[in-house]
Amino acid sequence: MKVLAVASEAVPLVKTGGLADVVGALPAALAGEGVEMRVLLPGYRGLAARLEAPRPVRLETAWGTVDLVLGRIGACEFALVDAPGLYDRDGGPYAGPDGRDWGDNPHRFAYLARVGAAIAAAGLDGWRPDAVHAHDWQAGLLPAFLAEDHAHAPPVLFTIHNIAFQGAYDRGVLTEIGLSDRLMTLDGIEYHGGVGFLKAGIALSDRVSTVSPGYAAELMTPEFGMGLDGLLRHRSGVVSGVLNGIDTHLWDPASDPALPARYGPETLAEKARNRAALAERFALDPAADAPLFIVVSRLTWQKGLDLLLEALAALLSTGGTLALLGSGEPGLEDGLRGAARAHPGRIGVEIGYDEALSHLMLGGGDAILVPSRFEPCGLTQLMGLRYGTVPVVARTGGLADTVIDANEAARRAGVATGVLHAPGDAAALARAIGRTAALFRDRPGWAAIQRAGLGHPVGWEASAAAYAALYRQMRP
Ligand code: ADP
Repeated sequence: MKVLAVASEAVPLVKTGGLADVVGALPAALAGEGVEMRVLLPGYRGLAARLEAPRPVRLETAWGTVDLVLGRIGACEFALVDAPGLYDRDGGPYAGPDGRDWGDNPHRFAYLARVGAAIAAAGLDGWRPDAVHAHDWQAGLLPAFLAEDHAHAPPVLFTIHNIAFQGAYDRGVLTEIGLSDRLMTLDGIEYHGGVGFLKAGIALSDRVSTVSPGYAAELMTPEFGMGLDGLLRHRSGVVSGVLNGIDTHLWDPASDPALPARYGPETLAEKARNRAALAERFALDPAADAPLFIVVSRLTWQKGLDLLLEALAALLSTGGTLALLGSGEPGLEDGLRGAARAHPGRIGVEIGYDEALSHLMLGGGDAILVPSRFEPCGLTQLMGLRYGTVPVVARTGGLADTVIDANEAARRAGVATGVLHAPGDAAALARAIGRTAALFRDRPGWAAIQRAGLGHPVGWEASAAAYAALYRQMRP
């Protein structure tokens, strides 16, 4: 079957977070399930030039002419919406070079959704999808445009990657983006008197999914639902959780070109060479008998790194060291830089975004910290499992679904893969760090935890099958 994916980012073309990893990985993963997926993205500056064999295509719709560029990267077919006035500019996908959100984001992403709906209904260049997979608020209006513009439409699966980003705008944008009042209802696009893009996706799609079973359940509670828990409870019959995977070819310690030493379950000792390279890169002097902790993360409240700042004294008292890579909120960046200045040789911080360095960190770290307050799925803990870098994670969302705590029973059964702690609690994080250091000193025990992690499936196989099943269930 044919499925059109609609999203605001996808590797390898444009990425700000896990959404891009997922959208970019699904086409290859689904090919094995008999699903042919094409990905529709905004044609941000410079993207079309990176496609293999790019070719312009025109789509005539009842509301106007749409220009697109089709092309591929490897086996993945992309369609880029060629609307220079909306997408061809310096800066990121959502914000300008000054870090402020683009003022016309509702127009930019409503247009993406409207084009997606037109392709869904009429096909493009002879290719007609049987179903649509719309991702996050940027594609949330797609089912609204299907209802507004088209009589016959394929079914839509809408996936929530993070409910914190809702795309809620003033009612005034309604006519500017091409929608009528008709859908401004409680079970339509209306959200607190304005237009809710994410809300529309949840309310109007045939099926709704999120990126872990744990997060799917959490979203139906006031604590995590961020105002949409009632609607999600109302739609609970069509809501499900499908865990994200990682690209196990791109993330493979046995072949990773970013690593000085490659390794597998039988050659874990090789990790020591990567550890030394990582320590050198961050000017650290890690003790042999205490863990070198790593963090690779956006620096935001969600990720709980303020809690890590509070728990740093505990980390240092275990004899451990910390290498952190991330960027985000200035307050957190400053706090972390300050900690590194105060503890040279023990805490190393690199502010920025660096894919290659993130591979070296996974290859050389002993344990990866993910102290999120909430986490829809989380990818870095999966990378940790894949690299024998033991995940130390908050017990929330997808983190709790993917890591098995190294308690006594789990260790005896040989199934422990990491350490879990209560979310949003610096003292609990400090205790987890202490527990990790104690586990690390028991070398055979630690190696058993690493190997259990290496054996944990983190690829896309199971989830690709689950998505394919969802598409097929929706097919009319
Ligand atoms: P989120 O999407 O909320 O940021 P995820 O854990 O789902 O969190 O995905 C984050 C992705 O971004 C992972 O692939 C992670 O390795 C990557 N990442 C985050 N920050 C950085 C950084 N500073 N440098 C390199 N990669 C990063």
